[in-house]
Amino acid sequence: MLLLVAERIIAAEPHLSEADRNLGDGDHGLGMQRGLTAAREKLMAFPDDGSVTIDKLFSTVGMAMMSSMGGASGAIFGTLFRDGGKALVGRETFGAAELAIFLRAACDGVMSRGKAQPGDKTMVDALHPAAAAAEAASGGLLTEAMAAVATAADAGKEASKAMVAVFGRARSLGEGAIGFPDAGALSVTVILEAMRDFVAAR
Ligand SMILES: [Mg+2]
Repeated sequence: MLLLVAERIIAAEPHLSEADRNLGDGDHGLGMQRGLTAAREKLMAFPDDGSVTIDKLFSTVGMAMMSSMGGASGAIFGTLFRDGGKALVGRETFGAAELAIFLRAACDGVMSRGKAQPGDKTMVDALHPAAAAAEAASGGLLTEAMAAVATAADAGKEASKAMVAVFGRARSLGEGAIGFPDAGALSVTVILEAMRDFVAAR
């Protein structure tokens, strides 16, 4: 699943770069591509025998992003996977309950580290509704929870178009930011759609 996330983010680089150019300095796509390339190398180096725990897989992605990307995106997207992963210590399966635990810890970590709130036109605008959708679906099937989560993230990303940024990459643009989605919210949506597609195909 995480290898598919890496593949999708790497492939989405032109879209992520364009989204960041519209509101910021345009470095987001290449940063994410670099981070997920590093994460993929770490994942590929693990033995494929089930001996690596779920929490370690997610945390490894986070640490690889932090150490390879640099900048605010590296710290904050690294926190998403690292804090989400840490919350899964002891879990031996990844079901709807674990998805909710992962996303709540990821969202709390990102908000704590980046200080953004919902409505500030940042990645939180996709991640926060995704975490809420995961909690609402935590008692059911992972396929259904993942579908709800991806839909919530996409709706949040779309809603970010209408927001004036008071925080993050577009804070200096004022109303000039209206009409464009936040690039970080777009990345969150790409990540969660990849997870959705992976579990749907199993
Ligand atoms: Mg940027």
